[in-house]
Parts: sequence; structure tokens; C-alpha cells
Amino acid sequence: MLRATVRNRIEYCILIVVIREVEWLFSQEHLPQPSWHGIPRKNIDWYPVIEPELCIGCGICVLGCGRQVFKFDYENNVPIVADALNCLVGCTTCENTCPQHAISFPPMSYLHKIIKKRGVIQHSRTELMSNMQKYTGKKQLKT
Ligand code: SF4
Ligand code: SF4
Repeated sequence: MLRATVRNRIEYCILIVVIREVEWLFSQEHLPQPSWHGIPRKNIDWYPVIEPELCIGCGICVLGCGRQVFKFDYENNVPIVADALNCLVGCTTCENTCPQHAISFPPMSYLHKIIKKRGVIQHSRTELMSNMQKYTGKKQLKT
């Protein structure tokens, strides 16, 4: 009787451990968080902001973004910035192609400050040197 109770308790504990492991596996906590040259992406305020009064709902921004940052609200005929942190840091394609000038970004000086002050240059150089196989090319020198 006592042996059966102990065994039940052990089985119960194992079950709890297994459940916690499965929960952890399905959570995102253990996955590497996206970063930009070593800086956590969530710490960089780079994403499009749409001025609704100017937008005519043409969808150029939605279709033109290669990173699926936008969704489209078909009921209200407006784009939505649905995945802001997927926006490529430094890209302004949607701003440049919006016929209404309805999209804006922070000034480039914001990024340049980050590049200079947060070790981006050194990080980039280190990454470049450790990926020679991937990036090696040869400039054709004129004779
Ligand atoms: S491109 Fe400009 S006008 Fe067209 S849907 Fe996007 S924000 Fe609106
Ligand atoms: S800036 Fe580039 S990556 Fe970012 S939302 Fe616009 S088109 Fe997409």
C-alpha cells in the first residue's frame, strides 16, 4: 500500500516535470531574440508610422514590403503596421514609394547615433571577418 502511494507520487512528479518541459519547448523564451548588429531589435525604434488622414488605401506599402510588416484592414481601407519589429532597420522603401507621403520614419541621424555609440561598427567588422566563406568576392582591377 505504502509502496503504491510512493510510486504514485513519483509518477505525479515526473508528469509535472514533463509538462513543464513541454511548455518551455513551445514557449519562445529559449529561442534567440532577434537583434541588429548585436543590439536587441526591440531596443531600436525603427518602423513605419502611417498618417491616416493622408492615406488613400492604395496598398503599395503592403505589397511592396518584403518583410510582411503590414496587414490591410479591408473594411476601413487602411494598412496596419502589424509586425513593426520585422521592419528592416534602415529601410525606408515604403516611405519612399507612398504616393501620399503618408509614411514616416525617425531621421537617419537616429540610426547613425546608434551605429556610432552602440558598437555596431566593431560588431559588423567581427561578423564580416568570421564569415569569409560566405562573403568573399574579388574586385576586378582594371589593367
Ligand atoms: S502606400 Fe501610402 S497611401 Fe498607399 S496604402 Fe500605404 S500609406 Fe496609404
Ligand atoms: S521600411 Fe522596408 S522593411 Fe520596413 S516596413 Fe517599409 S518596406 Fe517593409
